[in-house]
Amino acid sequence: MSSCGRGDAATRRALAEWVAYLREIGVRDLAAAAPRPVGERAAPAPARPSAPPAKEPARRASRPELFSLADSASGGPSDPVARLREIREEIGDCRRCRLHERRTQIVFGVGNPSAGLMFVGEGPGAEEDARGEPFVGRAGKKLDEMIRSVGLERGDVYIANVVKCRPPDNRTPEADEASTCSPFLFAQIEAIRPRVIVALGAPAAKTLLGSRLGITQIRGTWGSFRGIPVMPTFHPAYLLRAYTQENRRKVWEDLKAARLKLDEGP
Ligand code: SF4
Repeated sequence: MSSCGRGDAATRRALAEWVAYLREIGVRDLAAAAPRPVGERAAPAPARPSAPPAKEPARRASRPELFSLADSASGGPSDPVARLREIREEIGDCRRCRLHERRTQIVFGVGNPSAGLMFVGEGPGAEEDARGEPFVGRAGKKLDEMIRSVGLERGDVYIANVVKCRPPDNRTPEADEASTCSPFLFAQIEAIRPRVIVALGAPAAKTLLGSRLGITQIRGTWGSFRGIPVMPTFHPAYLLRAYTQENRRKVWEDLKAARLKLDEGP
């Protein structure tokens, strides 16, 4: 093989590693750098990491302190891809809460790192746990429909959960599990800085808004997370269980409000 051929092979290998890495931190649509969808901020070019994220050993149970508002205020990295990479590295092979015991893999998040609109769910289900991507089962298909109903595609938005590991039997995350894992979600939000967040279901609304009210009471009313407007609405899995015309209308109203807020601009 010529030295040129060897160089091509090395370049292809490096490119494949880079693409695999982007997928691991949730970047699916590599063409997203082309036309920007409605509501999206201009994103700086992704910075190539010097090395792929290393698997980390088991950690002591602790709240991650690395990501805080102080980071952004003090001139920390502002490239959302680089920030998401740091967050994924910080999570590592996380064992900070009991949810690690029965997970197949950590489900970090997926979508456009510069999205104007972010959806936050509760936690991975069986299919998400198997595939490593949030909202890919039946509820995921319903979420895709919800996203399309306001004129966007899945690749236009960012999707993440309060907890990154599947709760056994798809139970609701316990309060201590949510509070241990949620700093990673908060860091993702800080990295992406969406203009609007839609909280899907009670655990997401409670985590972002601190509300003790049920989702039926607070859905459709604006809240705020660190200055970002948050619209709580029903989780798509609930919508599938209670597929009434009234519930569909309520979710549609909530999503329309979120889309209008997005279109208002910064
Ligand atoms: S749910 Fe979050 S805090 Fe708990 S083990 Fe998984 S990544 Fe770590």
